[in-house]
Amino acid sequence: MTDSSIPKFFEKDRNERLEIVKKFSDLSKEDLDLLENSLGGISFDVADKMIENAIGTFSLPLGIATNFRINEKDYLLPMVIEEPSVVAAASKGAKIARSHGGFTAKVHESFSIGQIQVVDVDVKSAIPKINQSSKEILDLANSKSKTLPKLGKGAKEVNCREISTDSGPMLIVELLIDTGDAMGANVTNTMCEAVAPLVEKITGGNVLLRILSNYATRRIVTASAIFDKEQLGGEKIVENIILAYQFAANDEYRAVTHNKGIMNGTIAVANATGQDSRAIEAAANAYAAKNGRYSSLTKWTKDENGNLVGKIELPLAVGIVGGIINVHPIAKLCIKILNVKSANELACIMAAAGLAQNLSALRALASEGIQKGHMKLHARNLASAAGAKSEQVDKIVQKMVQENNISLNRAKELLNQI
Ligand code: NAD
Repeated sequence: MTDSSIPKFFEKDRNERLEIVKKFSDLSKEDLDLLENSLGGISFDVADKMIENAIGTFSLPLGIATNFRINEKDYLLPMVIEEPSVVAAASKGAKIARSHGGFTAKVHESFSIGQIQVVDVDVKSAIPKINQSSKEILDLANSKSKTLPKLGKGAKEVNCREISTDSGPMLIVELLIDTGDAMGANVTNTMCEAVAPLVEKITGGNVLLRILSNYATRRIVTASAIFDKEQLGGEKIVENIILAYQFAANDEYRAVTHNKGIMNGTIAVANATGQDSRAIEAAANAYAAKNGRYSSLTKWTKDENGNLVGKIELPLAVGIVGGIINVHPIAKLCIKILNVKSANELACIMAAAGLAQNLSALRALASEGIQKGHMKLHARNLASAAGAKSEQVDKIVQKMVQENNISLNRAKELLNQI
């Protein structure tokens, strides 16, 4: 089974959904047991080793977005998110993209940036000295990883920048490190710390910070897709989506919300696959302001046939090895469900998820508004919060939607009447 466009996936029960995912991703019986029985995936012992002062674990829903086709390969996207409507919106956006071939995505380069801050230094004379010693610095950095140099990866470049501060000029020496299929935060920090004494010796200055930059501008990912005008609802909707995008492109207050919607897609996949979501969001938001003003991470135009064309560009520092992926069995399983073979492939998927999500949000906002779909899903949460059992939830939701009165109080009243 290789087709991710699975009709009425949302109407199937859990066992049927699991069976489809099992077939699609070639999961074993043990994988399925884990999904069915692990209630979030980690034991307290694992949690206790992961963070300090652990007292328990906290689970979130894991859903599957269908219809994704990226670079001519189909994917079922695992998404971990608490917000209703995100999985549905991603699946819907991907469905519309499919009829014109799905998403085309590309990672342009994949270097992490490690920063070494040098103070009390004559910056002008230090820069050429660092440049002359770059091979020695790179060799020392690479001696700290057994794996990366063997894979042809590792520290590849040394750059220098001068910054002016209230405390005087500083030299920032940057290591560009190809971290392969890992996010590479730890190896980047290790390499920065390892070369710091050498940098001090070469420059005659004092090194203070030695740390990864999360502004991953050398790990830029782009994804694009054509969305059929008829499937979107006609020319007027296409026009309205472009107008809605222009609002985000030219107004920070709108752009933040617009990009938050993109993060709904990207971060849900990041959560499922054990990525550092804070790193991704911090970088994405900085990138959104790269031209001096916070703006949209996506661009929306139309092509010569009047179809909508969407593009996204953002930095994504992700990995399929390392971090919690080795520790969290569900994160590992989600990588298996995706059947990704490299960090770059995962980054392409996360960019496409963001673009699909953005399309669905813009489409809803530029037509009927988001509340219609959103509130129906929200009503389910309210019914549960009111104490309804699963067999009572649908009845309460139906009634609240019918009455156009979706609130916790009404859910409680209806529950009392059942
Ligand atoms: P990690 O430390 O587990 O390192 C991954 C290691 O896997 C590599 O160093 C390498 O030795 C090995 N490896 C095996 N096969 C590989 C392959 N094909 N490609 C690359 N490496 C391979 O994980 P990491 O990616 O260095 O760090 C990620 C974690 O670090 C995240 O959990 C993140 O939250 C955390 N972290 C983040 C920051 C930050 O964002 N500023 C800082 C410190 C730590």
